[in-house]
Amino acid sequence: MARVLIIGAGGVGSVVTHKCAQAKDTFTEILLASRTEEKCKAIAKDVKKLQKRTIKTAALDADNPKNTIKLIKAWQPELVINVALPYQDLAIMDACLATGTHYLDTANYEPKDKAKFEYKWQWAYKKKFEKAGLTAILGCGFDPGQTNIYCAWAQKHHFDEIHSVDIMDCNAGSHGKAFATNFNPEINIREITQRGKFWEDGQWKETDPLSLMTPFDFAECGVKDMYLMYHEELESLVKNLKGLKRIRFWMTFGQQYLTHLRVLENVGMTSIKPIKYEGKDIVPLQFLKAVLPKPESLGENYSGKTNIGCWIEGVKNGQFKRYYIYNVCDHAACWKEVHSQAISYTTGVPAMLGAKLLLDGIWRKPGVWNVEQMDPDPFMADIGNWGLPWVETAPEKPLPI
Ligand code: NDP
Repeated sequence: MARVLIIGAGGVGSVVTHKCAQAKDTFTEILLASRTEEKCKAIAKDVKKLQKRTIKTAALDADNPKNTIKLIKAWQPELVINVALPYQDLAIMDACLATGTHYLDTANYEPKDKAKFEYKWQWAYKKKFEKAGLTAILGCGFDPGQTNIYCAWAQKHHFDEIHSVDIMDCNAGSHGKAFATNFNPEINIREITQRGKFWEDGQWKETDPLSLMTPFDFAECGVKDMYLMYHEELESLVKNLKGLKRIRFWMTFGQQYLTHLRVLENVGMTSIKPIKYEGKDIVPLQFLKAVLPKPESLGENYSGKTNIGCWIEGVKNGQFKRYYIYNVCDHAACWKEVHSQAISYTTGVPAMLGAKLLLDGIWRKPGVWNVEQMDPDPFMADIGNWGLPWVETAPEKPLPI
């Protein structure tokens, strides 16, 4: 029985709100706040229609902690679920500390003017949250999120030592647009165009952007080209997995997507450096975001599936072991249930369940935590019931790369 404040009314915020509305024993009262209140109102209308729940909405610019503090004081939630943009993470954590409110997010902090995401800024809040007796859970989406929990589960139940992890994210869906990103275009393109990076033998190794590729046959999705990228969960998993020798992250991209991206990069449209246009400073990537389809608008005609999981190798009882755990999610089924596509859905459902476990007192411990530092069992026992069941296999052959 708790009041929750959800910040961010985008694709992920919509799913989190629908799913919190479904979990009515825990989330007894819901306030959805975002920069543009009309978007909150549209989601509230949809939640009323599909989930038969009434939620409240508010306008909030969360860049300034004062605004969030004011709203929290008025609403008095036990928890803030932050599904706005990574730029707001620290400001919202400050507001939580000032008001004695728990915190959960799905993406780590990024400064606006530098395409660099690292946990150091949020990890620096650990002592403050501990002292305040508050729990902050970081990265509780799918990747980061459910993939980290798969690793914690594997570490707890399947391995004595984990030697390598390959996180593999496949979207075999089709939305019918020439070019669109499945979550916030600005954050997505900043992530994809940076240099690749993986961890091996105690050090980080870099690659040119999307220069390492291998085809892989994903269950229910078929053979897709997956590309090595740097992704934020690698940083925390390197710290939290025992005996790790290598960890990499792979994502699938189609040729059409990559061609568009290359052209946009070549003409400077993915740059985050402001340029003068008719006397005004504009950031090309932010302008590009404004003309691309909104991620939440892709759902209605999306077909196909996603398959995201972890390929793990290591040792159990003195024997080499290979283990692969994944979820398959269907875009059209997500639309039917909560008017979303599978990327927002696979992010929003773990966020809701993490929030539920925190509020139910199961995942509550003062400090700042990555999800793999929580007990994976209660999450794994329930996540299938909320729409993201998992499959475990023991592959015979190694990965092709
Ligand atoms: P969207 O761009 O669709 O939504 C972001 C929302 O945040 C928008 O409604 C936006 O408002 C709002 N917002 C932006 N700035 C502010 C502000 N200063 N104050 C209040 N609200 C603000 O993004 P997504 O829903 O796709 O993604 C949400 C988060 O989820 C991102 O941080 C993303 O990185 C993360 N994510 C995590 C994944 C995972 O697996 N862990 C996967 C996918 C996404 P407005 O409508 O006015 O622009």
